[in-house]
Amino acid sequence: MSIRHHLSDPMLIAYAAGNLPEAFSLVVATHVSMCDTCRAQLATFEAVGGAVLAAESAALSDGALEAAMARLGAPEPALAMPKPKHTDLPAPLLDYIGGSLADVKWRSLGMGVRQAILPTSKGATARLLYIPAGQAVPDHGHRGTELTLVLQGAFCDATDRFGPGDVEVATEELEHTPVASSDGACICLAATDAPLRFNALIPRLLQPLFRI
Ligand SMILES: [Zn+2]
Repeated sequence: MSIRHHLSDPMLIAYAAGNLPEAFSLVVATHVSMCDTCRAQLATFEAVGGAVLAAESAALSDGALEAAMARLGAPEPALAMPKPKHTDLPAPLLDYIGGSLADVKWRSLGMGVRQAILPTSKGATARLLYIPAGQAVPDHGHRGTELTLVLQGAFCDATDRFGPGDVEVATEELEHTPVASSDGACICLAATDAPLRFNALIPRLLQPLFRI
């Protein structure tokens, strides 16, 4: 898989620090599971975090480390790993969807575009988007940040082409009209922390209904 669009360092650092809303963490974890580059970068940031923790624990009062270790108790025998099921889903998405993309409960957004909102904590929304081949998502802007990760197929907007594993980070400055490639449907995982800003009236009217 040749991935050209990656997560930013601040995004990876926020993920490593546990500072992202669940919807964003899900997109980051899914991209990282598909992308060797970001996985290596994340490991670096996690090592830095570990070094900070080690330095801090050295400053704890005498006996604090022993007390914490004692609370952990005796090591438990390792759990038997469940057999990996045959699936077309990256691992972090399995718990949110079930077995495969075929199990997704889609809701129509019109013009063949479909979505499925995934259950995450409040503060940001995660959704799967299904865009039929050649179809455009209505032109929209962003009030916050939108992360869009391609799981299958590809889409293009004014900035570039995004294929499987690529992630687009859209901020308030970007207005775009993503169009699915004509080769086939495009399935994306997207996270937003504020409602999108549609330029056309009909999508604007439908917005509250679809929580988009
Ligand atoms: Zn990456």
